[in-house]
Amino acid sequence: MSQNVVILGSTGSIGESALQVAAHLGDAVRIVGLAAGSRSERLAEQVAEFGCKWAYIADPEKARGLGARLPDGCRAVQTDRTLCELVAAPDVDIVLCAIVGTAGLRPVLAAIEAGKDIALASKEVLVMAGATVMDCVRRQGVRLLPVDSEHCALFQCLDQKPSAEISRLILTASGGPFRGASADDLCAVTPEQALAHPTWNMGRKITIDSATLMNKGLELIEAHWLFGVAPDTLDVVVHPQSIVHSMVEFVDGSILAQMGLPDMRLPIQYCLTYPKRCPSLQRPMPFDEALTLDFEPPDVQNFPALRLAKDAICAGGTMPAVFNAANEVAVDAFCHDNCSFPGISCTVDAVMQAHDILPASGLDSILAADAWARRYATECLGVVNR
Ligand code: NAD
Ligand code: MG
Repeated sequence: MSQNVVILGSTGSIGESALQVAAHLGDAVRIVGLAAGSRSERLAEQVAEFGCKWAYIADPEKARGLGARLPDGCRAVQTDRTLCELVAAPDVDIVLCAIVGTAGLRPVLAAIEAGKDIALASKEVLVMAGATVMDCVRRQGVRLLPVDSEHCALFQCLDQKPSAEISRLILTASGGPFRGASADDLCAVTPEQALAHPTWNMGRKITIDSATLMNKGLELIEAHWLFGVAPDTLDVVVHPQSIVHSMVEFVDGSILAQMGLPDMRLPIQYCLTYPKRCPSLQRPMPFDEALTLDFEPPDVQNFPALRLAKDAICAGGTMPAVFNAANEVAVDAFCHDNCSFPGISCTVDAVMQAHDILPASGLDSILAADAWARRYATECLGVVNR
């Protein structure tokens, strides 16, 4: 049976990989609609290749000229509200959200409300509004399938085992390009150095997040919501080869791992064909060559992101949204040479310290906390740079 799919963030790293998976799966997948941020030329090419019914672009400048670029029969979607209606339309089975940051929150919620399954790459959505999203998922009885490689690995290892049998979820981290660096080394890091990731080829923001370990912090919060586990059940181990994508330790001490060469097309395909497994574009593991897998504890002194993330989970309420928003502002400042590399974690810490937590009882309080954190982080960075 064919799955009708919408891809949000189609021109990004995950979006392009998802379209390669769709082409590989052939008739099993039909791409109904695509949404992107600003690259309208690429979006138009994608729409033509996959015969989509509609396309949306967030950038208002680019949106004006979009209709003229699209092939006959493809509708140019003008507003966020129409986008939310279209992801909820009867012809959609699953929405893959791969928008960087939190702009995917509203369309994801609209799709869940309409009973659609979600393949979620945008971890920021769960970090910001985990309680709201998970409530909605439970209420509507839809599947929330994790695209993030660690969570997809955990999902596969957990395989619906009862929570009483689980002792730990162990997320692997590559350690990023600055594994083993001293505090002095980290002060001198430039955006170009931070953008050179040793094992994964990804979008800009997640690449910087991987270098600070903020990505792993965001993933701890993501795992907390996805699998309903407490922070002391979540661990991180540095594994530079990125072959073991994550592990589950059960109460009898047995550990299950999911492995493979690093390639996001596998978890994307897993989500699109779930619960079936199909031949994929994944290269086989070269076991005819010598292979070493290393594991080491993370350096929590020089990389405070993991502690900050666990603090955010424990604090609860609006704190994870604040953690996420402050990080987004600080990463942007770092990319524009307005913040040092260690300054990213310091800014997140300072904004969290200053936050008066509120219950995350609905979108309004979350969005207000997000907006406050962005303003306060910008202020903090202004002070640092003076
Ligand atoms: P990217 O920067 O390469 O792509 C982001 C996409 O989002 C682009 O298509 C961009 O046009 C689109 N976009 C931005 N703002 C938008 C808006 N307002 N409306 C619609 N589209 C918008 O990022 P990426 O590396 O593909 O990552 C996407 C998400 O997936 C992030 O949340 C990231 O944390 C997560 N993720 C990525 C990887 C990876 O390997 N790249 C792995 C795991 C999780
Ligand atoms: Mg990941």
